[in-house]
Amino acid sequence: MFIASKLFAKHHITAIFSDRQGGISHAPFDSLNLGLGLGDSEENVQHNLKQLCTAAELPVPHRSQQVHGTDYLLCDGEGVQHTHQADILITCTAGCSVAVRTADCLPILLIDPNSGVVAAVHAGWRGTAKNIADIAIQQMKKFGANPEHILACLGPSIATCCFEVDMDTGKQLSQSHPDAHLHIHHKNHKAWPNIQAINALQLQSSGIQPDNMAFMTLCTSCLPARFYSYRRDGIQSGRQLAIVALPMSL
Ligand SMILES: [Zn+2]
Repeated sequence: MFIASKLFAKHHITAIFSDRQGGISHAPFDSLNLGLGLGDSEENVQHNLKQLCTAAELPVPHRSQQVHGTDYLLCDGEGVQHTHQADILITCTAGCSVAVRTADCLPILLIDPNSGVVAAVHAGWRGTAKNIADIAIQQMKKFGANPEHILACLGPSIATCCFEVDMDTGKQLSQSHPDAHLHIHHKNHKAWPNIQAINALQLQSSGIQPDNMAFMTLCTSCLPARFYSYRRDGIQSGRQLAIVALPMSL
């Protein structure tokens, strides 16, 4: 049903990445679909969300309208699906959780346990090209976070093996960080970026310590029984959720 971050657990923080198993949605959304408005019934999605939160012992998270931008939404109180467009969700409220939906894009979960600032980031290739990981860290700093203390967990996403993009997209990604080109493979006028590695570079340049970063290197496109993948399944694809909560006490 989900993978929990061991790095966050060491600090008594729950951060999880859901997979597609253990829900009630029917094919092609089988079975733990957490994306609304894709063709699956709203009842199924709400049921799946409740089941996941109960299993992971997490409060129902705040969710936004994700648009591959770099805006953030500051969340407070009971977790709901917001109409607000944002690809970074932040909370500083104990007992509150935030989440991003993905199906190939990279979910990044962040927390500064010292200052109690939490963020969930939706980093697709567009967000990555816009340096969204660094933008998220800069926003967390405004709420008192210190990059030296921030823990980062980069979840399952499409990996280099399956992520073929055109040369222009490759160029935009290579311009996002001085070393990004080291993580873009080129062949036959196509590019194969490693978006996890490029986001890790952006986080490191923002001051995140290498020891405070964890990676889930599973490729969503290579594992059809385990993950939804938009590249693989198109409009028939469900969505995973990455959730992190700020505990009641740290
Ligand atoms: Zn793959």
